[in-house]
Amino acid sequence: MTEKISPELERKLKTCRGLPSPPTFALKVIELVNDPELDIDEAVKVFSLDPAIVSKILRIANSPLYASQRKVDTLQMAIIHLGLNATISLALSFSLVSGLRKGNQDATLNHSLYWKRSGLAGAASRVLSNYCELPCLEELFIAALLQDIGMLALDRLNPGLYADSALAQHCHAKVVEHEQQQLGCSHATVGGWLLAQWRLPERLHMAATYSEDPIQVSLDNELAKFVRCAAGAGVLANLLLNGGQDDTLQDTTDKLERWLGITAEQLPNLLEQMQPVLIEVDNLFDMKISQEVNSEDLIEMARESQLFANLRICQEVEKLKEGTLNLEAQCEQLENSAQRDGLTKLYNRSFVDEYLDKMFKQSLRERSIFTLGFLDLDHFKQVNDAHGHSVGDLIIKAAADILQAQVRSSDIVGRYGGEEFLIVLPETPAVGAQDVFLRILETFRQTRHDINAGQQLEVTVSIGFATHTPECPFSNIGALIKAADDALYQVKQNGRNNCRIFEATSVDLMSQASLSNI
Ligand code: GH3
Ligand code: MG
Ligand code: MG
Repeated sequence: MTEKISPELERKLKTCRGLPSPPTFALKVIELVNDPELDIDEAVKVFSLDPAIVSKILRIANSPLYASQRKVDTLQMAIIHLGLNATISLALSFSLVSGLRKGNQDATLNHSLYWKRSGLAGAASRVLSNYCELPCLEELFIAALLQDIGMLALDRLNPGLYADSALAQHCHAKVVEHEQQQLGCSHATVGGWLLAQWRLPERLHMAATYSEDPIQVSLDNELAKFVRCAAGAGVLANLLLNGGQDDTLQDTTDKLERWLGITAEQLPNLLEQMQPVLIEVDNLFDMKISQEVNSEDLIEMARESQLFANLRICQEVEKLKEGTLNLEAQCEQLENSAQRDGLTKLYNRSFVDEYLDKMFKQSLRERSIFTLGFLDLDHFKQVNDAHGHSVGDLIIKAAADILQAQVRSSDIVGRYGGEEFLIVLPETPAVGAQDVFLRILETFRQTRHDINAGQQLEVTVSIGFATHTPECPFSNIGALIKAADDALYQVKQNGRNNCRIFEATSVDLMSQASLSNI
């Protein structure tokens, strides 16, 4: 929300006697700024009123900032070289700065700190305008220089305002907070108001008004860019003023990125470009900021912080990658645990049911063959009764291992119930399937299961199976399962420890010879 000056504060400002005001010369230059029919001769006439300003304009026209092929030694040449608007802006900034610096200095504001920040912001604005390709260099320079003018005004209006010794005047955010607490209004708003009173161009008072929060000026126009650049210059000035303490460095990179799209990676380069500009500003405004600001340390700090930021990002990416891998592994585990039986680690019933459903549909589509075997441990209740449930569990687990070992990897073995297993043999006709089941029967017969205290146990199995073929298809998967179960029932009826294919007449498939009949 835009901060407003209360009518009471405005009344006080209007009647305040010592409020900073432009020197007479600056007032004449402001008239030039507002004159739509201005020509060079008229400007030369006004500038000539202040020889000190003329010599500064000549100095700047010959400075590296505006490097010229030829020496510029007259005001006319300077105007041609710099451009009329630029010369007016420069004259205005020289006049305002020197006039305001001479003003009342006995109040509580730290004036040397104030002017240091002002000069730093001016210098920063030149580098930023290059970065942001903003053409109005000189106007931005004044905007950056004058953006805190409201502090001078508030200091005069309210002489004790900045007296609090606990107030860290070099910390701009704290100053703003203090002003808002004391007056309900910050120097930015007051500064904007003052520059408007001076009849300075709109962009200059806008830049002051929104110097703390330039994002409020709507995007995508030159004015918004101008305001953001001036505020960005203020933020860079804070950084230089505070020697890059961790929080100012972070604050600077955040704001420059948000306001101007300048990344933390660009910051060291930007600071490097400031060094010669600081020297120029020192020369032109009789300041000493280039010596007092340790930009080399700051550049190094900005580089390091960038390096750490990159390292942090790399570490975070690694962590994320690790997390993703863990997540994938967890998903796989979860998927597995949803599909597997806890005791045997074989596929569980719900997985086998789903798999069989798909398999059956596929075999109808592709006219393929597959065999389903239903296996049940013989007299298993007796095992439990005689040796205990844990031995029973051991045998179930051992049975699962035998089954898994006796089939191909493309076959599916699942635990269908307590001591019942399903075996799915894709692409396997009855003859091949019977080979597999006979082998399983034989393995169980041969196996001695070690149980308690050196005791060994033999367990046999019964298997019923049914083969689904295009020639002799089952109507649905339920019918196929029931057929295998019926065949198993037949085996149990006929004494167990055997296998049998489902047939209407239930032919015993115990031997190879009888298999040839199916
Ligand atoms: P049949 O030869 O006719 O199949 O006789 P059986 O004793 O194996 O058949 P029945 O279905 O009467 O008994 C199966 C037994 O299997 C009963 C049950 O206690 C046992 N059982 C089922 N699941 C488990 C299990 O997870 N662990 C153990 N230890 N026993 C189980
Ligand atoms: Mg059984
Ligand atoms: Mg059973």
